[in-house]
This record gives sequence, C-alpha cells and structure tokens, in this order.
Amino acid sequence: MAKKLKKVDVVVVGSGWAGGIVSAEAAKAGYKVVTLERGKPVDRQDYIGVKDELRYTDRYEMMQNLAPETITSRNNLDEEALPVRTRKEMMAGTDLGGGSVHWAGATYRWKPIDFELRSKTIERYGEKKIQEGMFIRDWGITYDEMEPYYDKWEKTAGISGEPDPLGDKRSNDWPNPPMKESPAVKLFKDTTKKMGYHPYQVASANLSQSYKNPDGETLAQCMFCSFCTQYGCDFGAKSDPLVTVIPTALKTGNCEIRTHSYVRRVLHENGKATGVMYVDLRTGLEYIQPADVVVLGAFAFTNNRLLHLSKIGEPYNPETRKGVIGRNYNGQFGITFLGARGFFEKKKFNLFMGAGALGGTLSDFAGDNFDHTDLDFINGGGIELRQYGHGPIATNAVPKGTKNWGPEFKEKSLHYTNRSLVVWYTMATMSWWHNYTSLDPTYTDDFGDPLLRITYKYTDHDRAMAKFGIEKCTEIMKEMGADIVDPDEVPEEFDHVYDGGHYAGGVSMGEDPETSAVNNYLQMWDMENLFVVGGSAFPQFGGHHPTATIGALSYRASEGIINYLKDPKLLTQPKKAAANA
Ligand SMILES: Cc1cc2nc3c(=O)[nH]c(=O)nc-3n(C[C@H](O)[C@H](O)[C@H](O)COP(=O)(O)OP(=O)(O)OC[C@H]3O[C@@H](n4cnc5c(N)ncnc54)[C@H](O)[C@@H]3O)c2cc1C
Ligand code: SF4
Repeated sequence: MAKKLKKVDVVVVGSGWAGGIVSAEAAKAGYKVVTLERGKPVDRQDYIGVKDELRYTDRYEMMQNLAPETITSRNNLDEEALPVRTRKEMMAGTDLGGGSVHWAGATYRWKPIDFELRSKTIERYGEKKIQEGMFIRDWGITYDEMEPYYDKWEKTAGISGEPDPLGDKRSNDWPNPPMKESPAVKLFKDTTKKMGYHPYQVASANLSQSYKNPDGETLAQCMFCSFCTQYGCDFGAKSDPLVTVIPTALKTGNCEIRTHSYVRRVLHENGKATGVMYVDLRTGLEYIQPADVVVLGAFAFTNNRLLHLSKIGEPYNPETRKGVIGRNYNGQFGITFLGARGFFEKKKFNLFMGAGALGGTLSDFAGDNFDHTDLDFINGGGIELRQYGHGPIATNAVPKGTKNWGPEFKEKSLHYTNRSLVVWYTMATMSWWHNYTSLDPTYTDDFGDPLLRITYKYTDHDRAMAKFGIEKCTEIMKEMGADIVDPDEVPEEFDHVYDGGHYAGGVSMGEDPETSAVNNYLQMWDMENLFVVGGSAFPQFGGHHPTATIGALSYRASEGIINYLKDPKLLTQPKKAAANA
C-alpha cells in the first residue's frame, strides 16, 4: 500500500533542463515544489577525474540502464517490436540533471518557419508541397513569441556565440562571446565563406569565459578538455542543470529534490491530476505525492509512457488516424547527421583538443533559406563541422575500403588520426501518420508495466533531404582540400538505433485538441493542471539541435504554471486545425 505524503503546490517529474527550469521558476515564485528524479544524486565534484573513455564513451556510463526499463522498436504496424538492449542504441540520461548533463552543448534557436511550417509552406509553395501522410502543423506559437523565452534560457545557461549572418531577430546578443576558433573550424569557415555561404561559430553551452547568470550562479571558462559529450563537466564550464537551475531551485528553500524516485503513474480524478505514484528504488517502498499541479519533464520517452500508462488523453490509433497521445512522434536519429568525412595528407590538426560544441556552422540550407520548388522535401538543416575532441580509443577513422583489422588498418588509423574531419547536415524531420508511440503488448519493465513501443520508419522525404545534405557536405569537404572524401550513404530503413538523444513528439503542441495533446503553455488540453514539458511537445523536428528550444519552452511552461496556480483555468482557447496537421 503506497504511503500518502503531504500535498505540495507542484510536483515535477525529472530534473534535466525541462524539470530543472520549472522547479526553479515555481520555487522562485514562492510555491512549494517536490522534484522527483529516478537516478542518483550527483554534483560537479562527482565528475572530477572521470576522463575515462572506456567507461563513458564506449560503455555509456551516463545513459539509462536498459535492463530494468527500455523501449521496444519496430518499423511497421504489422511487426512485433523488439526491445532495444544496448546503451549505444538508446541514449537517455538518468541521474540528477538527466541527459542535460552529458549533452555536448551545441545551441541553436530554431527558425521562424519551424514554428509555422504548415502555413508558410502552403503560402510559398502551395498545399501540394505537403506530402500525403505527413503530419505537420504550426505550433500555436510564433518565433517572435518564443524569442523572450529563448533569451531567458540563453542568459541562464550563459551561452557563448556570435551572430548567424542569416539569423533571425534577437532582443539581445548572446551573453558571452564565441569560443576560440581552432584551425579546423577556421578552415571550415574560410572555405564556406569563399563558396558564398554565411558561416559562423556554433553557439555553445561550453563557456568562453567565466560568467554569473541572472540567478547568481557562477559558471567557469571551458578548458577544451575533450571529454565533454557523454561526460559531466568537472570544471563547471558546461552549462547544465547541476550548475544552474538545480542550485537556484534549492536555495529558495521551497524545492525538495528526491532522487532514486521512479515515477510509475500520474494519478487523476474527475479530469484533474491529483499527484503521482512513485517507488523509492533503494527500499522498494511506494509513495503518493499529491500536488495542485503535476509537471512531466522526464524526456520524450517517459513523458509519452507515463501518459499511456496513466490512461490520460486519447491514445493515437494509426488505423483511424485519431487520438493524440503518441501522435507526431519525431526526432533526429539514424538518417540525420549524415555528411562527408575528409582525409588530409598535407594538413594536420590537433583534434585531441576540443569541446562538445566547438565548431563552425552555416544556415544557408536551413529552414526556407533556399528554394525548395524543385526539391522533394520541405525544411532543411544546418551544416556543421564540430571539434568534439578525439578520444584515443574511439578514434580510428580510415578511408572507405581500408580493412578494419590488421597492419593496414593500424598504419592508416595512426596516419590519419589528426588528419580527418567530418562535415554533416543536421536535418529536420517531419511527423508521419505511421510513426507513433504506444504501449508494448508483450514486453514489460521490472515492475511489470508495459514498455513504451516506438513504431518508426523512414520516408522518401527523409531520404531526399539526407541525399541533398550529403551532396552539400561533400562539396564543402572537397573545397576544404581533403585528398580523400568519403560521403555517407543514405540508409534504406531505420535500424532501431536511437543515437544522439534527440527524441521528440508524442505529446505535441498545437491549437486543436483533435490533433495536439498540449496547448502553447504545454498544458494538457484534457487535464488543465497537468503540464508536459520538453521535446515531447514538438509537432515536428526543426533543422537544428533541440535543447535551446526545450529550454525556451520550459520557461514558457513555467509562466503558464505560475499563471495557472494564481488563476486555475485553461490558459489558451482551442481552434480547429487541418486534419493532417
Ligand atoms: C550524447 C548526447 C549529446 C547531446 N548533445 C546535444 C547538443 O549538443 N545540443 C542539443 O541541443 N542537444 C543535445 N543533446 C540532447 C539533450 O541532451 C536533450 O535535448 C536535453 O537534455 C533534454 O532535456 P530534458 O530535461 O527534456 O531531459 P533530461 O535532461 O534527460 O531529463 C529527464 C530526467 O527525467 C528523469 N526521468 C525519466 N523517467 C523518469 C521516471 N519515470 N521517474 C523519475 N524520473 C524520471 C531522467 O532520469 C532525467 O534525469 C544531446 C544528447 C545526447 C544523448
Ligand atoms: S570541454 Fe569544456 S565544457 Fe566540456 S567538459 Fe571539458 S571543460 Fe567542460
């Protein structure tokens, strides 16, 4: 029998950027908050001396343990989905701060067209440009309305960047100057400028200088230590919830964070959420945490799963194309991030120096910055060169055709170790009627609850956009002077590897409760006091990395939650949208 605890104003599930921001904002506004996190407590000190490539890069130490709970995956509706079993194939964060601690830190605002994709596509190219079976929609919020929330998140995180020459309206510059330009980044920027493009430095959550954010939290300057993506930062130089919103929430005295707390259900009665049920993973004891407002900020997979398990909202049915929970599942994995690798005989770079978001980029082929009239796809993506910092174990790039063992492999991997660069396309993905989440009918977690099942396959639209991006990256790599250029191949079908951590949708936002689950404050249409925050709200994916948009939406949701606590009501009125939105 679960023990019922004292009621609080807000219970938040998850402590990454989404859950951390909501916890801090609600606590700063004077509300009593309990934040539940399934993983263990960690802080910056725990990452001192963990520059252990085998443990973190190759064995994915910071990713969710898939033995007690994973997802299942299939391509087609008539197949049996199978569990995803290795951490390389599904990268979700787990301890305090979540995946927002092991992220790389590449920071992009999405383009105005990303938020109004349907109406702007029809306006420029006509309705026929939207392919049969594609679910795309305007978000119910414009870039101009998102701008103040982006600005707020960038200041909290202390983002370091320079203006995108093709960028959109900003109320302020980035709070810190861009990172240093390494020779590889300079080569990319100089070359693409000569080609007539508009390169700029990737904006980074690896800080270019020490910085105090508006909440009084201090971040340090990045040391280019190279052990960044898939690691926590012991210098406190990568902006993450552990050095920003979590201490901000705690110092109000209004927020209690309970780790090892695995949430299994959202509880509800008469159309209102009453709290959550969770298990303390150390003792196995069950608790009920009642609250006036329930917030899910537990990453796309758990946000989807908890709604399915708790029977909140109508689950999406692909046969009828009705229902909203699980609809518009999307993300950047597999076919995204393809491009070209170049090998240089006469140039050497110091690639063992780097940082998660050190890089150059351009937006010439993002959004609608280029004419799509004769192309078989809409939207686009950024083109990036990143200098993450090589790890000696994982770095063995050799030209295609080289044997992957023996003396030839050894000789070439040593020769090219500082002579190989990659340029890739961070392409957008659309939502489709056949890609969705549901509960698996066969496989369960340690508690006997059904796993989340993902049904996902590629479309010709994905393949056309990937091919376009690979061609552009290949041209750039050749112009950069690479002696050997190996373009990536477009995969035929999705291979169930959910790499990269950019999963989204399933609890998508919009204006019409028939097709969307949450409104533009991320408040559930069907349950006014339940807010579902994070990438799960994206109706389709933009052409850049997601976390700045998740941060901005989390500030937007926080405003909604505080408004709701003062005056409980539906914060946005619904409107009728197109059926295939
Ligand atoms: C290797 C890697 C590199 C990345 N680099 C970039 C990048 O450069 N740029 C970019 O924009 N994005 C990047 N991302 C994506 C980025 O990490 C995510 O977009 C971001 O962390 C999402 O924040 P969130 O708060 O929604 O989720 P998270 O930070 O993952 O937080 C969710 C939290 O919820 C907890 N939780 C889940 N289920 C439960 C439950 N049942 N009960 C209790 N707690 C639960 C989790 O343990 C976790 O702590 C990267 C991802 C990966 C994997
Ligand atoms: S590269 Fe910079 S931000 Fe990343 S972990 Fe090292 S010091 Fe921290």
